[in-house]
Amino acid sequence: MENLLNLDVIIECDEVEVSGFEAPVMHIVAEPDIRLFARIFDTIHEGVIVSNAENNIEFVNPAFSMITGYTREEVSGKNMYMLYSGLMEEPLYRFMWHSINETGRWQGEMANIHKNGTSYVEWLSIHTLKDEQGLVSHYITIFSDISERKTAEARLVYMAKHDVLTDLPNRVLLQDRLIQAIIHAEQEKCSVAVMVMDIDRFKVVNDALGHLVGDKLLQEAANRIREAVRAGDTVSRQGGDEFVIMLPNIVETSILDTIALELLKVVSAPYFINGNEIEVTTSIGISLFPSHGQDGDVLIKHADAAMYYAKKVGRNNYQFFTREMRERAQEHMAIEKKLRRALERNELCLHYQPQVDLRNGRIIGAESLLRWNHPESGMISPAQFIPVAEENGMIVPIGEWVLLEACRQNQAWREMGFPEITMAVNLSAVQFRQKDLGEVIVAALYKAGLDASGLELEITEGAVMQDAEAAISLLRVLKDFGVNLSMDDFGTGYSSLSYLKRFPINKLKIDQSFVRDATINSDDAAITSTIISMGRNLKLKVIAEGVETAEQLAFLKQQGCDEMQGYFFSRPIPAEQFARLMASARESDGQWHYDNYS
Ligand code: C2E
Ligand code: MG
Ligand code: MG
Repeated sequence: MENLLNLDVIIECDEVEVSGFEAPVMHIVAEPDIRLFARIFDTIHEGVIVSNAENNIEFVNPAFSMITGYTREEVSGKNMYMLYSGLMEEPLYRFMWHSINETGRWQGEMANIHKNGTSYVEWLSIHTLKDEQGLVSHYITIFSDISERKTAEARLVYMAKHDVLTDLPNRVLLQDRLIQAIIHAEQEKCSVAVMVMDIDRFKVVNDALGHLVGDKLLQEAANRIREAVRAGDTVSRQGGDEFVIMLPNIVETSILDTIALELLKVVSAPYFINGNEIEVTTSIGISLFPSHGQDGDVLIKHADAAMYYAKKVGRNNYQFFTREMRERAQEHMAIEKKLRRALERNELCLHYQPQVDLRNGRIIGAESLLRWNHPESGMISPAQFIPVAEENGMIVPIGEWVLLEACRQNQAWREMGFPEITMAVNLSAVQFRQKDLGEVIVAALYKAGLDASGLELEITEGAVMQDAEAAISLLRVLKDFGVNLSMDDFGTGYSSLSYLKRFPINKLKIDQSFVRDATINSDDAAITSTIISMGRNLKLKVIAEGVETAEQLAFLKQQGCDEMQGYFFSRPIPAEQFARLMASARESDGQWHYDNYS
């Protein structure tokens, strides 16, 4: 280094923190330290350039050559300017020198070009050295290559705004773009559309063919969707099988029909993945700014409501958000507000509907059905508030309360000396996804002092199919513990025999829609009798729900159905009334003489 170093001052290093790396600060020292100083400059990882007052390079260290690709010889005596790539904007360059001249230093990021032509980003600090007259004698430039850190940072920024699986923008980026599009639409007096798309029955594909196939299908669907929309539209994935598309600059809404039809078409074309040919469809909901909402959240919420409606009316179609949907959404919000206080104000209670053995007419069980008596609105049906509670998660504490209350009630009846019956409790799909559901159930039994055989859990196919393997293992544990399991609303879901065989259930509950029309519609009669014989083959009990007439009862009995529940015997009733019913049954020898009705 001695040969290049032509300083008229000798300097030593202090350590000073300069945004991320230690930078030496120069002081005049005695001659013997020069070797140490040379070694330090040779070993540090930061590039060092010493240039004179005219900015001609007098010294560079080995790290300089590592980072820039230029040797000492190549730069020695050359003007520093040769090292500026031109990637730096001219005004910034001028500002840099202004700052150096005014304050004696500058530091910042600079994009530069390696001798081999590749670009890199460096963190640079430039200090001035002055002589005894106070004139600039040298500039000391210290820099390090921060390209890797910059790439990692850029990757993080990218990942924060994109979905890993499909590489599509995620919720965050969609929100940003929605805000921009809405501002633009306000100025230009045009519309912005939001489409929420959900792949129909995607869970079935995932469960049947595995997550890898499911993931590939989503990637392929993402590509098809991206190609089907216009260049300026944003297709985002919100997780799961749901995509949200933002379409700015809508002048004629009829274009949305065209795009939605195209989306239905491209998504439903067959997929060939790992040797499987798969067909899926999609349901789309559409909302528009400004007519359906003023901000992104509301627009997405409303498009989502329209998407649910599209599913409800048969899937594989698209729907625009409507006034009725808005009313329903408002009602939803009103219920949600009231529901938050329902539990603590004791507004919830259970009614019990008897279940009867068709062989002997005995009451063998009760289904607990949730009732909400609101002080102002009166009775609110579970069909209205349970979906709301499921959506906001309140079904978890409510369901826990139901479990305990139903178990307590059954134990109370047992202690009153009534014949032992089982208590059926409905479980929601949301409860089923809770990791501690098993513990909650066991705790309820324990607190109530009820034997596990006194409890029956009613589950739906939809709830168990969401994660079939996890569900099967939980159901096994519960069944081993002695709890009874019944498949509610059977016939309306997948009703797959192969799955059914794997679920450790005791009972099938024929959905009331089939029972209702079994005596007037031959299809429903056939479904009902098929479920009964399916149950018999799988050694499961079969109960029919929604039995309202003597004809229905006679049909079920003739088909060999084991049990029934319905208005024909009794509506769901409060606990005291149920106890009276059991007491009168006891008096008449425990028999319900339904034959009298037929
Ligand atoms: P579900 O479990 O299928 O319950 C049967 C529904 O049919 C009950 O409606 C019951 O009152 C009604 N029902 C019974 N017999 C007849 C009949 O002969 N004719 C007609 N037309 N209907 C009959 P409800 O009480 O309105 O409950 C509706 C649904 O709400 C239930 O359907 C169940 O899915 C849900 N639900 C009720 N209580 C709970 C609960 O504690 N937790 C959960 N997660 N869901 C509940
Ligand atoms: Mg039920
Ligand atoms: Mg049911």
